[in-house]
Parts: sequence; C-alpha cells; structure tokens
Amino acid sequence: MTTTVDMTFKDLNLPEPILQALEKVGYEKPSPIQAESIPLLLKGHDLLGQAQTGTGKTAAFALPMLANIDPEQSKPQLLVLAPTRELAIQVAEAFQVYASFSQKIRVLPVYGGQSYDNQIRQLKRGVQVVVGTPGRIIDHIKRKTLDLSELKYLVLDEADEMLRMGFIDDVELILSHAPEERQTALFSATMPGPIKKITQRYLKDPKHVKIASKVSTASTIRQRYCQIAPHHKLEALTRIMEVEVFDGMIIFVRTKTATVELADKLSARGYDVEPLNGDIPQAARERTVEKLKQGQIDILVATDVVARGLDVERVSHVINYDIPYDSESYVHRIGRTGRAGRQGDAILFISHREKRLLFSIEKTTKQPIEAMPIPSISEINETRLSRFKQSVAEATQDDSIESLMPIVEMIKAENEASPEVLMAALLKIAQGDEPLILKETDRPDINSKPPRDSRDSRERGSRDGRDGRERKPKVPRGNRKPEEGMQRFRIEVGHVHGAKPGNIVGAIANEANINSKHIGAIEIYDNFSTVDLPDGMPKETRDTLAGTRVAGQRLNIREWSDTPPPKREGRGDRAPRGDRPPRESRDDRPARGNREERGGRDRKRKN
Ligand code: ADP
Ligand code: MG
Repeated sequence: MTTTVDMTFKDLNLPEPILQALEKVGYEKPSPIQAESIPLLLKGHDLLGQAQTGTGKTAAFALPMLANIDPEQSKPQLLVLAPTRELAIQVAEAFQVYASFSQKIRVLPVYGGQSYDNQIRQLKRGVQVVVGTPGRIIDHIKRKTLDLSELKYLVLDEADEMLRMGFIDDVELILSHAPEERQTALFSATMPGPIKKITQRYLKDPKHVKIASKVSTASTIRQRYCQIAPHHKLEALTRIMEVEVFDGMIIFVRTKTATVELADKLSARGYDVEPLNGDIPQAARERTVEKLKQGQIDILVATDVVARGLDVERVSHVINYDIPYDSESYVHRIGRTGRAGRQGDAILFISHREKRLLFSIEKTTKQPIEAMPIPSISEINETRLSRFKQSVAEATQDDSIESLMPIVEMIKAENEASPEVLMAALLKIAQGDEPLILKETDRPDINSKPPRDSRDSRERGSRDGRDGRERKPKVPRGNRKPEEGMQRFRIEVGHVHGAKPGNIVGAIANEANINSKHIGAIEIYDNFSTVDLPDGMPKETRDTLAGTRVAGQRLNIREWSDTPPPKREGRGDRAPRGDRPPRESRDDRPARGNREERGGRDRKRKN
C-alpha cells in the first residue's frame, strides 16, 4: 500500500472527471485529511474527520461523495449543512469546482437572505448536491420545495458548531426528513468532549480520522500577543498597522456593534475596511468577502461566526482585537491566515487579567505565543522614513520625471535657495498636513492611565487630527463646496434614523459598486444627510441608489441643488449652513453614538 505521504489523487481511485478538475485547480497531492478520509468515505463508512483549519477538509468529503453521485437521478442525494451563509457559499463553490468536469452534476447553495424563487426554480430543475444553512433548508422542507427522500449522503461541516445548542434542533429536524439509511460524515477542526459524545447519535459504526495538529497550518503562522490596556487597543492597532507589512487582514471583535464601530474608525483613518457581521444583508456580505479577495478592500472587522471557515488566501494577518472566548475559537480565528501552507501572522490583544487564557491557548496549539511590544513612535517614524526613501528611490527610476525637469530648472533659476533647501521645501509640500515624522506627543501615550470619562475622551486623542493616521484627508466642513470632480447629493436618512457614516459608505459602495475611496464628504443632519460622489453618475447607478436603504430608510438620492432651500426643512431639522458645523462628518465623528438604541435593532437577525 502506498503511504499517505507520497499518495496521489490517482491512487485514491477517484473518477476521471474529478481528477481532471483537480488537475485544473492545481492540487498536486491530497492533504493528510484527504488521503485518510477519501478511501474510507469511498468505501461507504460513516466518518468523524478532525483536522485544523485550512487543511482541505472540504475536498476530503466533497471528492469521494461526488464520485458516488448518480447524475441521472435529479433529487438531492447529498446534503452539506454549514453554520453560516459564507461557509455554505464557499463549500458550494468548492463543489462546483470539483464537479466542473461532470456536466450533469448540479450543486445548489441554499441559504437565507437570497430570494426563494431562484432556489425553487433550480430545485425543480433537479440538483444532486445541496449545500445550505439549516434555517433556509428547513424553510424549503416546510414549503415542500426540497425533497430529501432520496438523500444518500449527509455532511455536517464545522460539525462542532452544528451540534451546539443553537443549531442542533434544526439539524435534528432536517434529519427527520431524510432516510435513516445513509452515509454521514462530520468534519471539524475542533471537537470538544461533550460535543464528541453527541456525534455518536449521528454516526453508525464510524471511523475516526484525526490529523495531529503538528501538521496543521498553525506551524506556518507566527503567533504574537500584545499586552495592552483595553482603552489603548485602538492606538495599538493603528500603530501595528503602520509598522507591519500586511496584505489582507481580518480583525476579530466580539460584537456586531463593535465590527461597525471599529470599521468606521479605521475607515476614517484612511484604510479600506468593511465590517462583516450577521446583521449585514447577505448580498452585501458576499460582496464584502469578494472585495477582500479582489483587493478592493484590505481589512475586514468581523465577528467569529461570520468569519468561520472563510478562505481568503491574501489574508496575511489576523488580529484578535477582542480576545476569543476559548482556545478553540482562537484556533478557528487564526486559521483564517496561513492558508494553503502560506506564511501568516496572528496578533492577540490581551489585558493583564486575560493572561490565563493566553496560557491555555499555548497549551492547545502546542506553540509558544511571543510577546510583542507595541510599536513605539520612533519605530513608526523609522518605518515611515524608510518607506518614504523607498518611494523616492523608485520615483527617480520613473521615466516620466524627465518631463518635470524643465520645472525643476525653472525653480532653481528663480530661487536663491540651495538645492537642499528646495528639496526640503518640496518635502514639506509633499507631506501636506500630515508630518512625515511624528513627535512623541502626536499620538496618545499608551502607558497612560485610562481617562475618567472612558468612552468619549479615550478616543478623542485619535480623532483630533493629530494622530497622524488621516491618510485620506477629506474636507467636508459646513456647506463647503464639493471637491473638484465631485457632486453633492442629498439622501433621506439622518441622525434620527441612526445613520452613521460607515453605514452610508458601506451601502453606497456595495449597491452602486463605487470604491469607498471615491466616496467623498458625508454630512449627517437630523433627518437627512449629504454625500459627495463622483461627477457624472450613470442613471442606472442613481436609480439603484434611490432604492437603496440605510438604517431602514430609502435613500431617494437626489442632487443637492434639487432640494428645496434648507430653511424650509420641517420639524426641527437642522439644515446645513456654512456657519454651523455639521454634527458629524466622515473624518471627524464623535465617539459617542447611539450605540444603545442601535444595539437593540442590531439583534434582529441571526444567521
Ligand atoms: P478547511 O475546511 O480544512 O479549513 P478548506 O477545505 O477550506 O480547508 O481548504 C483550504 C484551502 O486549501 C482551499 O483554498 C483549498 O482550495 C486548498 N486545498 C484543499 N486541498 C488541497 C490540495 N490537496 N492541494 C492544494 N490545495 C488544497
Ligand atoms: Mg472548512
């Protein structure tokens, strides 16, 4: 028998169309979990498969099960249940790839937030593989649009999550509609004892495959922790972001509200960032993940549940801004980086009180987590300086500077000043309002005690414009004119509706597909807001935006000049006037906010 180390997919006796698909995606050889699980599943055993995140568990069940699908039979034969929509989509996409050379096999992702019509149409036409979240699957069963009577294979992906309290009843309900006689596989990275017990109920005479964590991605992830007082986390994060070289980043926080708040703050500092949480409409969440993949944004601020299982290769850094609840969620979180054997970085923020969890994580992962000092101002300056020097060096190699020489000659001729002084003058112009080199006092002192009035004043330091992070200075003050090339619009959502700059930017960026970089000043008034958008917006985009909702309000976007004179605004609405600063604008937003009132509404949807 071939040992698993040098085994190829051919050795696994997979059918030709699947081998072709694997060739096309470029998998060289099966990963350990695949090498061990595929033969067992092909033989028809029930299976409990355990291996760290990023080790290819999807293909471990998808390949052998696809191999046994009967394409002539149009009722669903294989059902995969996943805890989140993102994961269902991702797994369905993987199935589609692996089945791409078997023309007749159809795979349908079924999850909430998407219209029923399309799902029903596809189900009627016939699909062999359904990948879904429990809620929507149950809806279809109840509507009798999904028939599980011919089901032969069942998979619970992220099985530990699926068998936890919130989900297990749904899973039971679904199973009661499927034949007893079937092959079941459970896959997960982690399997806490109590949950493992429950698995017995679902598996008949199962085989266990457990890949020891030493072969996991964890070894390619450099893990560090930063001990930091809670009120200095934002400052620590922004310093780290300046000094670390990162491609994609996922920042984990505990609550949905925190995803939005932190994303807003980072976006105000010029980062391309979006929140990802269970309350964001499905379509927008999908686009957000896609944007991260495509590099339109670099940073996601996410909660555990929506980020679970996400597979985005360019994620180089995972920041545990809020500490995870247990070592298992830590493992899941950091598994978002170091995908497919790449190098990854995980940084954990930890307060003095939380140190115990740190030790327990080290025990679970069997890897030390290094202490990491918070980057000092002088480190930031060093980084800035070396990047600046680098960009100057690169610019000197650029052919187009040739055409600038006459201007240089002219300036030299017309000025008494030495070349050094001229260069310093140009440097001063280049750095603009933002000094290239920071003084210690430019940034909050991370060794200071928490201010007495915690929320408000703790954040002032970072938003008073001295924090050196405002890479994208916007000039939306009062009724100032829109910048060159921009046009001002009015939208019908304001403070009273709970609008925040971040929601508005998010909605416009998503619905109109405008890069958030190109969304200009936003000013929020009581009943409405204004937003500056690039000139010449196509009509379709405008129509889309007219119907887009923020905080439940239709935007009804129209040109600012279209609107009646501000004075006419009814009932206490505060019209924008040049002499009165707006209450909130994108680059100067109060740290206070209607968190409480939003919190209530935020909880309205789950999964
Ligand atoms: P898990 O479910 O264990 O977290 P995934 O199934 O999401 O892992 O796979 C992680 C990544 O590894 C995906 O990008 C997938 O395409 C890739 N992958 C899976 N199997 C292989 C393989 N045999 N060779 C190369 N890449 C693979
Ligand atoms: Mg997975």
